This record gives sequence, C-alpha cells and structure tokens, in this order.
Amino acid sequence: MTTEKKKYSVESKVLYQPESTALCTILNDGLKKNFQHVVVAEVDCPDLTESPWCLAAKGICGSPKLLDVGGVPNLIPTPRKEKIYRFDELAEMAGNQDAYFLGAGAAGFHILGGNAEMMANLRLGKEECIETYVASVNKEGECDLKKFPEKEFGLLGNFLASEGLQGKVIKICAKTRIGEDNFIQSIRNVSKEAFPNNMIGLGGVFMIKSGKARLHVMPCFSESPLITDEDVENWLKFYEMSSPLICLSVFYNYDEGMDLRIDHTHCFSHHGEGGHYHHDTTPSAVEYEGYFVVAEELLRVDRPKQTHSVGRD
Ligand SMILES: [Zn+2]
Repeated sequence: MTTEKKKYSVESKVLYQPESTALCTILNDGLKKNFQHVVVAEVDCPDLTESPWCLAAKGICGSPKLLDVGGVPNLIPTPRKEKIYRFDELAEMAGNQDAYFLGAGAAGFHILGGNAEMMANLRLGKEECIETYVASVNKEGECDLKKFPEKEFGLLGNFLASEGLQGKVIKICAKTRIGEDNFIQSIRNVSKEAFPNNMIGLGGVFMIKSGKARLHVMPCFSESPLITDEDVENWLKFYEMSSPLICLSVFYNYDEGMDLRIDHTHCFSHHGEGGHYHHDTTPSAVEYEGYFVVAEELLRVDRPKQTHSVGRD
C-alpha cells in the first residue's frame, strides 16, 4: 500500500559533536557509577549485517542524522490515524535517497491491520533491504514478533539515518548493573553532566547479551482515551523477555525545547520476542554491548502542535 506524499514541517538543528576520544573517556569514567565493568572505546564498526545483529546495512556511519517524527501526542489520548509517514520522504528530508534507517517507532497499522511496535531496520535506494520487525499482542496476550517489509509507519518514530557504512564508532560494553539507571539513561546522564550546554544526540545498536529485560508491547488502540500515565501503563502489555535482545536506539543528552522523545529504544530477537525497552531485570547477570555514532544534525519532523508529557517513558 502506498500513501500519497504529504508535506510535513521540518525543523533542523546542528548537534554538538564532541571529540570522540574525549567522549570515550567521559563515558568510560561516568558509566562506572551504574555498572561494575565498563569499557568504552572508538573502534571500527563490525559488519552489522552478520549474525547476531542482522541489520540491513553493514554499518551506521556516513552523515549520521537523528529524526524525531510525529510524537506521543499522535497516539495519546486517542490515535490520530491520519498520521502516516514514509521512509522515502524522510530520506529526502535527510538529503540521502539511499539512507539506512534504524530505530523505534509505531508500526504501519494501516497496512498491518492493527497497532504494533516497530523496530525500523531498512535501507532504501540502490541496495534496498528491509529487515524491519513489528511486535504486537496476539489473542492469547502473548508477544507476536514478525518481519514487516514495508516503508510506511504511523504516529511516531525516532531514527538514526546514515549512509549505512562501516567506519569509526563508539563501542560501549557494560556489565553487572550497580545503579538504578538503564543502559541508555546512564549514557544520557553522563553526557548531560559533561555537556550541560551543548546538545548531543547518539544513535546505534546494542545487545543485551545476558540476563532478562522488561519491555512493553502496545496492544490494539485503546477504545477509551488515555489521559494519565497510569492509563497508559494499564493499557500497555509488559513482559520480561530473554536475552539475547538486539536493541535499536536513539537518544539525546537533553532536549533544547523541541519536544523530543529524549530516548527511544526498541528491541528484536531471533527467538520471537521484542518490544520497547524499559530496563534489565537482572542487574547482576546483565551484559550490554553497543555500537553508536554521534549525530551531526537533528531533524524534527511534523512536530505535534498540541503536546503533553504523558506516556513518554
Ligand atoms: Zn517505543
């Protein structure tokens, strides 16, 4: 199904790109508040098309940009079903028709026939390859994860767009959690403390290699409006899922007034589980390994005119 092209508003912001050796040192020191074992280093990006990552491009390098599209106000209190977005239009906005997108969003419910989480993992253009997954809740109340080879999605999404190349990336390994923050919150908090007046944004992939994690999956759209965080919590389906989980993530150290989803991570697996990442549930057993790039620019696409802070976790 192809939706006709629409014109969406786009606001752009150049992001601060700290020198990578300095950033690695800051993260290596700072993450130790939250994890017993931490190693952060600039490395050559491994081939991410290989197992177990199975991404649609070899790497996450080349003109990295972050896109925050639509937003939670398109879902809550009631879904705005006219909010359908196309990756080829986002690629045009990012100035690269062959862009590789990874990240977290809401599935193309209009194609799928229902609401679902989307783990966007697709390359457009000459080397088109779509490895996107969606996770929904089946009639038995279980998570149903499947491939979804489409180029449209709904309501909201947070993505890293790049040329899909291998190059220098920041590798972050952390294991044995000793603090309260999840993996991404701890990276965000350290970056916020180090760069309180310079907005930075990162995108990439990480794996929960051992232990378990709490994830949610959106069920069918709610028949009654979701007004409070409690309404949202009661509507969402939460699961404890098993590693290994491959997690696609986009985040910022802070939001300079652009109504951003400050972090957003969706995970898939090769064992039928996937969804929206909240935190690991096994601090002593957990082990994370991730590869990230520091984005050069942020594109805020179709920012909702009326906003609120419900359902942002
Ligand atoms: Zn999500």
